[in-house]
Amino acid sequence: RIKGQYGKYLAIYDEELRGKLLREQAVTDAMEIALAQGQFEIYLQPKYQLSCDSLAGAEALVRWNHPEWGLQSPGEFIPIFERNGFITKLDEFVWDKACAILKEWDAKGYPPLAVSVNVSRADIYNADLADILTKTVQKYDLQPARLHLEITESAYTENPEQIIKTVRHLRDLGFIIEMDDFGSGYSSLNMLNQMTLDILKLDMKFIQNETAKPMNQGVLRFIMQLARSMNLSVVAEGVETKSQLERLREIGCDYVQGYYFAKPMRCGDFEELWKSHDTMAGAETANQPPFL
Ligand code: C2E
Ligand code: MG
Ligand code: MG
Ligand code: MG
Repeated sequence: RIKGQYGKYLAIYDEELRGKLLREQAVTDAMEIALAQGQFEIYLQPKYQLSCDSLAGAEALVRWNHPEWGLQSPGEFIPIFERNGFITKLDEFVWDKACAILKEWDAKGYPPLAVSVNVSRADIYNADLADILTKTVQKYDLQPARLHLEITESAYTENPEQIIKTVRHLRDLGFIIEMDDFGSGYSSLNMLNQMTLDILKLDMKFIQNETAKPMNQGVLRFIMQLARSMNLSVVAEGVETKSQLERLREIGCDYVQGYYFAKPMRCGDFEELWKSHDTMAGAETANQPPFL
């Protein structure tokens, strides 16, 4: 019977929803302990400059090693932390760790790389954001420009007035601002026009979508022109293949990041990689299995 059928679907839907809510509650119950017990860890993914073929920085990406659940994906727990507010606390931890690593490298006499950190949409509404970031870099004797702040595109469209104000302030303080996932949302040219940014970070869909290739290359070229006319650098993330790299070279993209070169890795491993080869070609060959 129709009624019975709907009833069944409703029950399944209910159960799915219930499972999701239970999981969200479990994550919420575990997060504070996780932070206190050091279950969160920073991974670094190298970023290369195309024009000089060299290592130009890294993105800090958080990982959660739960003693029972194992390695947790930020794709799942970050949205939960954004809903329950914990992201603000976790991001502070990530920024602190990123600065601690930079300081450590400085002490070892390494060239001054910059590290990109993600700034959640929720952090934008934190009135203490600029203060926290400034205190963190000061704590480790770093210039603010050593930290690149990645703010996802959709955060800009959510509350343009707020973000324009916040970004202007952070930039005045010397931080470098990147618009993350550019092209994934709905930022208008008008909005871009009102923003002061430093770097556009192309959403990986642009690079990975091989099916719409000729058209896609045109869009990429247009974005490059737009960026140039606005004095912005462009980073492409999610570069997985040689042909994607070639296409990015062709349009004059400035920086690349992706599995083709290296996956996000432990800080110690990043340091080893940096010491063994600080060129893009080095990473390219190191990461390619000999059978390819
Ligand atoms: P995102 O900021 O856009 O980071 C890029 C994501 O793409 C990372 O996923 C990275 O591991 C992955 N990636 C890098 N290269 C490739 C590639 O060649 N192919 C593919 N398919 N993926 C690649 P991850 O680490 O799982 O993080 C997912 C998202 O979680 C991040 O997206 C970011 O929005 C959020 N996130 C991660 N760490 C933090 C953090 O410390 N704070 C905040 N607020 N958000 C974070
Ligand atoms: Mg990012
Ligand atoms: Mg991001
Ligand atoms: Mg991104």
